[in-house]
Amino acid sequence: MERTFVMVKPDGVKRGVIGSIINRFEQKGFALMAIKLMQIDLALAEEHYRDLRTKPFFGELVGYLTSGSVCAMIWEGPNAVANARSLIGKTNPVEAAPGTIRGDYAMDVAGNIVHGSDSPESAAREIGLFFTQELPITTFMGFPYNEQSAE
Ligand code: UDP
Ligand code: MG
Repeated sequence: MERTFVMVKPDGVKRGVIGSIINRFEQKGFALMAIKLMQIDLALAEEHYRDLRTKPFFGELVGYLTSGSVCAMIWEGPNAVANARSLIGKTNPVEAAPGTIRGDYAMDVAGNIVHGSDSPESAAREIGLFFTQELPITTFMGFPYNEQSAE
C-alpha cells in the first residue's frame, strides 16, 4: 500500500468539480485517508513547489495556488503515486489524454486543475507539509488520522 498527495487547485474548487475529481479516485479504487479545504499562504505554496523555484513561471504558479481555496487530500492504494498520476494526466492539458482529469477538465498548463505527487518521496514530503500532527483533520475508521494508523 502506498499513499499520495492530491490537491484540487483553486480553479478546480471555483468551478465546483471537487466531487467529480473525488469520484474518479473512488471509482479507480483509491481509499480517501484525509481531506480538507484550505487557503494556502505564499510560504506553503513556495515550499510545496520549491523544486520549480528557478522556473520562469514560478511567480505565476504560486500566485495561482494562493488565489483561492484548495482541496488537499491523501489517497491510498497500490502504486498510489503512479496510479494517481495516470488518472490526472500529463502536465499540459493539451497533451493530457481525454479520459484523464486534466484531459477532460482543463485547457491550459497554467490552470491544470489538480496536483498529484510525482514520487513516493514527494508524496511523503507533501503529506507532511499539508497534514501535520498538530492539526488533526479528519477521522478514518473512527481513529484520528496519524502516521501510526497508516501502518
Ligand atoms: N506549470 C506551468 N507552466 C509550465 C509547467 C508547469 O504553469 O510550463 C505549472 C502547472 O500548474 C504544473 C505545476 O506548474 O501543474 C507543477 O509543474 P510540474 O512540472 O511539477 O507538473 P505536474 O507534476 O503538476 O504535472
Ligand atoms: Mg510536479
